Amino acid sequence: MTTTVVVGGNFAGMTAALEIKRKGKDKHKVIMIDKSPLFLFIPSLIWVPFNRREIKDISFRKDEILHKKGVEFLLAEALRVDTERQVVVTDKEEVSYNHLVIATGPKVKYDVAPGVQEYAHYVGTPNGAMKIRTALEEFKKNPGPIVIGATQNAGCMGAAYEFLFNIEKWLREQNIRKKVDLYWITPETFLGHFGIDGMTGGETMLKSFMKMFNIHFRTEVGVKEVQEDKVILTSDEELPSSFTMLMPPFIGVDFVKNSPGLEATAAGYIPVTDDYRHVTLPNVWAAGIAVDVKLPFTPGKVPFSGPKTGYPSDETGKIVAENIIRVSKGETELKKKAWGKIPGVCIMDAGKKEVIILSDKLFKPRNFAIMIPNIFYDVFKVIFEKYFLWKTRKGYSYLP
Ligand SMILES: Cc1cc2nc3c(=O)[nH]c(=O)nc-3n(C[C@H](O)[C@H](O)[C@H](O)COP(=O)(O)OP(=O)(O)OC[C@H]3O[C@@H](n4cnc5c(N)ncnc54)[C@H](O)[C@@H]3O)c2cc1C
Repeated sequence: MTTTVVVGGNFAGMTAALEIKRKGKDKHKVIMIDKSPLFLFIPSLIWVPFNRREIKDISFRKDEILHKKGVEFLLAEALRVDTERQVVVTDKEEVSYNHLVIATGPKVKYDVAPGVQEYAHYVGTPNGAMKIRTALEEFKKNPGPIVIGATQNAGCMGAAYEFLFNIEKWLREQNIRKKVDLYWITPETFLGHFGIDGMTGGETMLKSFMKMFNIHFRTEVGVKEVQEDKVILTSDEELPSSFTMLMPPFIGVDFVKNSPGLEATAAGYIPVTDDYRHVTLPNVWAAGIAVDVKLPFTPGKVPFSGPKTGYPSDETGKIVAENIIRVSKGETELKKKAWGKIPGVCIMDAGKKEVIILSDKLFKPRNFAIMIPNIFYDVFKVIFEKYFLWKTRKGYSYLP
């Protein structure tokens, strides 16, 4: 019996754990460790501040489906791993493994600039999204300028763009749009770079959205400081702001940083080869945001990073599962797919409009890459949400 421990069980870890068990059956024991009892469909958090979703609509208990599929679940925080003893130390107990999958996602680097933690909102956690809901109720009573954007070193720009267009729509619905100067700030060298060096037509499309919605924008800027009533940019420009939402950079989680044996990168990510196996530890694997991905472009004046979105997170979970099964059967040929060669599949909500982004490869050179705007409704984003929640609730991890 081979025991695989999967640390972190949301997009990448849930897929990896269910796939190892599905393929390995009785020859594999799979234990998932996660500090959260809930699976959370993070992409829909951008709708929570605007009352379009409740947290309960986009999350569910994961232990029930895991148990049904034969995966053990330990609700605990993994503190570190001893790679010599092959033991994960948690705040509850120690768990031994033959194979270890690290799928712990990101830690948000709120200290990227003074005041970001204190005065800027962040939509990427349930708590953060709910705090924005409350803050917007107050904002409505006394509207003022708004700054939305991504800080230096950020990589998840798409979500910040989505929030921008959703708040613009919300301002119109509240009949206060004319009272609000809306600013977009980004470290990207051009609008729609997205940390993937853009896509044909993307910059033009985003520029036309900014014009159509009367949003002022600044590219190639970082954040020097956020104060209660303003955002000071690295260009020294000061933007007055009564409400600020920023996407800070992501780094690796403390579990990884506190495990020197993992030889993580300075940012706390796991160095792997194209089969998602650790470069020096043959029984350690990584999937999702935990993977170290080399930047596919040269940043400009202000550093920024690349996106690690849901599709490649799910895909790398599948690749890891397949490879652990192959290794445990004594096979030496492993499945390989570099992160940048995974297809790009993403839907950007633009405030009850959407842009469907498809490419044969995430990173350039690509054979095809298209952005299809749908200005009537965000129907594909909603379908994607419903589909992903359905397949995960059912444990159909093998589906795309
Ligand atoms: C606001 C927002 C919107 C987004 N929108 C989109 C979108 O529209 N489309 C898209 O493709 N992607 C989107 N993304 C990105 C997407 O959410 C990520 O790609 C995906 O969540 C990554 O999956 P993951 O499994 O690597 O990490 P996560 O989903 O973050 O999961 C990590 C898991 O590890 C657990 N964990 C962490 N540390 C420990 C520990 N020490 N012990 C135990 N458990 C631990 C956590 O509890 C969590 O369950 C968005 C992200 C954000 C923040």
